[in-house]
Amino acid sequence: MSQPRIDALRKAPVEPFQHLIDGRSVPASDGGVTTVVSPIDGSRLTTYARGTVADAEAAIAAARRAFDDGRWSGLAPAARKKILLKWADLIEAQAVDLAVLGVRENGTEIGMALKAEPLSAAATVRYYAEAIDKLAGEIAPTDPAFLGLVHREPAGVVGAIVPWNFPLMIGAWKFGPALAAGCTVVLKPAETASLTLVRVAQLGLEAGLPAGVLNVVTGEGPVVGAAIAASMDVDVLVFTGSGATGRRLLEAAARSNLKRVYLELGGKSPNIVFADAPDLDEAAKVSAMGIFRNSGQVCIAGSRILVERSVHAAFVEKLAAQAAAIRVGDPLDSTTQAGAVNSLRQLQQNLRFVAEAREAGRTVIGGARIREETGGFYMEPAIVEARPEDRVFREEVFGPVVTVTPFDTEAEAVALANGTSYGLAAAVWTGNLSRAHRMVRKIRAGLVHVNTYGGSDLTVPLGGVKQSGNGHDKSLHAFDKYLNLKTAWVKL
Ligand code: NAD
Repeated sequence: MSQPRIDALRKAPVEPFQHLIDGRSVPASDGGVTTVVSPIDGSRLTTYARGTVADAEAAIAAARRAFDDGRWSGLAPAARKKILLKWADLIEAQAVDLAVLGVRENGTEIGMALKAEPLSAAATVRYYAEAIDKLAGEIAPTDPAFLGLVHREPAGVVGAIVPWNFPLMIGAWKFGPALAAGCTVVLKPAETASLTLVRVAQLGLEAGLPAGVLNVVTGEGPVVGAAIAASMDVDVLVFTGSGATGRRLLEAAARSNLKRVYLELGGKSPNIVFADAPDLDEAAKVSAMGIFRNSGQVCIAGSRILVERSVHAAFVEKLAAQAAAIRVGDPLDSTTQAGAVNSLRQLQQNLRFVAEAREAGRTVIGGARIREETGGFYMEPAIVEARPEDRVFREEVFGPVVTVTPFDTEAEAVALANGTSYGLAAAVWTGNLSRAHRMVRKIRAGLVHVNTYGGSDLTVPLGGVKQSGNGHDKSLHAFDKYLNLKTAWVKL
């Protein structure tokens, strides 16, 4: 990735964005637009269409028609694969442009954005495209007087509502398997990360996705997202975001057509460091990146570090040194390790958690707003020596704020780890193989790392337990959401 190329793109004018409905770019039905403010410097980047309920309904109707007439679901899986593979190539060819556009809108450091956004989206589309013509149905081992066939059928119209931290990666985790399965999609990006998803969907049209198969409606959650959730014509709703919104979606499904709802929600993931960790320096280094990359705006961020008391002081010292060395700054400088916080609202929320901990008398390292003179939203990593009763220990910050808390026994570590309403991710650092596997069993989370943090690839599922959600993105298991089982029971 070359810095001159990034610099050439960083100030390029960005045209106003519109919805993509039924294969056409269209404005909001009432002409409304939303101004996009760049978190890099607070400047106005462009506008996008501020969707109305009518826009959401038009997109759903287009997706319904496209599904029902079989223009996509009726293709041979190998034919869908061909189009999706071409699309993945187009996304990859535009990766730097897409990454820079996304960073200008959401502030993620460019190195991570390039890998985690367009390149990851291309890889995801490719992965599901390549898988779809290898999935067969079943012949049941039934009484030979009968034939029991189990078909897998595309589930229908999928509503996908995604957040702002990794719009392309998380978006592709939804539309990749959904489209490969033969579903049609109405996608609703987050208010502060919409542009790249519209552009990627346009590339889909170029690759040969028929009109109406992938529609993108930009705008506000309580308007566009709520209309998708309440629709009688959406069969499956997939969501990544906050628990509060997740609850609303379940209510809307209950009040409308009982659509299936799959939620990927927040986390307060414990990262447990035992005194027998193979390498405490490595643990401190990886743990720092496990919370501070993308300014902590990572659903699986290891935001609660629990450290065995005998190494607690040494670990905090090492972690503080790692945090201080993280280069927070201009997200379009390829040497930056943590870019801007996504919005002023998120920054203020982060700073409130830090201030509250200080007011309660807790030791806090870092955590100040920095680079205010740029007009952007930046914050130093914060390490809070927290107690289990503290709000910062229990609630998700979704910012560069980590708590560190000592423990004495394995049982206490488990109790602390499981002591929140969340259950998304976790980590255990230990050189003791038996303990590692015991902890994997005892920790209530969808993903438990051992002697590492983050970086799990597409081949394994990601999903939460407890109030971190249900259902899984990534891996072949993701298809379960988008394929219905149908039995044919035949008397022979
Ligand atoms: P959010 O719930 O506010 O918004 C997510 C999406 O929901 C956005 O597109 C938003 O417009 C939409 N939305 C908001 N209100 C809505 C409503 N009433 N009806 C329908 N849609 C509505 O969350 P956020 O602030 O964008 O994202 C941050 C949260 O996402 C954090 O809690 C984070 O942990 C979580 N997250 C989870 C994962 C995961 O895989 N589990 C991944 C990334 C982020």
